Amino acid sequence: MAQKSRMGNLKAIIIVSSSLLLIIIFAFILKTGYSENSISRSAEETLPSPQQGSLGNETEIAVDKNYLLGKFDPAQEDDFIEVDSKYTKRLGQYLRKETYVAFIKMHEAAFQAGIQLTIVSATRNFDSQKSIWERKWSGQTHVEGKNLSKAIGDPVERAKIILKFSSMPGTSRHHWGTDVDLNALENDYFETELGKRAYTWLKENASVYGFCQTYTPKNSSRSSGYEEEKWHWSYIPLAKSFLSQYIQKVSYDDLKGFEGWETAKELRVIKNYVLSIDKGCH
Ligand SMILES: [Zn+2]
Repeated sequence: MAQKSRMGNLKAIIIVSSSLLLIIIFAFILKTGYSENSISRSAEETLPSPQQGSLGNETEIAVDKNYLLGKFDPAQEDDFIEVDSKYTKRLGQYLRKETYVAFIKMHEAAFQAGIQLTIVSATRNFDSQKSIWERKWSGQTHVEGKNLSKAIGDPVERAKIILKFSSMPGTSRHHWGTDVDLNALENDYFETELGKRAYTWLKENASVYGFCQTYTPKNSSRSSGYEEEKWHWSYIPLAKSFLSQYIQKVSYDDLKGFEGWETAKELRVIKNYVLSIDKGCH
């Protein structure tokens, strides 16, 4: 009897092991075939599935401090993909693949509803944020109609004016590949007929695709930070995790390497700007 049942166990083990082996071989064949063909497939077919209706579902992807500070080139990263000209007028824009898939789904749904969503700006790394920031700092780009280098001598006051709508390098959510600016970079556009329709649609539907407007009007739930940006939408399932990693890994000592960096600590930009997002996006 004991020998019989031992034989039975042995048989079962052999059957389970061979089935496992077959599954592994099959998975390997599938994977190889997939990667060989993936280049010719469209982004929608090859990219991971979006997490629809999942504002609260956080996807944990561990990233390092340099990533969070935007110190990398998205064009060189496997996790990023170039945005197709169907979705942007400016080529050379990149997004994390997960964000891109979710955006495509949202774009399609909006299109069905007669709304055009166009990416004006996607991932911006440290260097591109530094050039935006420094152009404003040095007066090359006027802010509120002024050359700030001449009009505002005090560095803290100058930084505060730029910070109404622009992040310091190393503190922008655009570094993460999760955030997009849509249609236009001024709130006035969203007061036009076209802009109003797009914004209303986004307010009602973006969360289905995981997107949230991070910079809503400042009120009791968001008392500091950037002014309202109706164009800035964040893919929360990923950004949520990146924000919590940012808080753990980045300190004021990391915010340097650009003009006016010394104001970061005094203005407590991590607490007052990076963390100051709409309650619903946390
Ligand atoms: Zn933005």
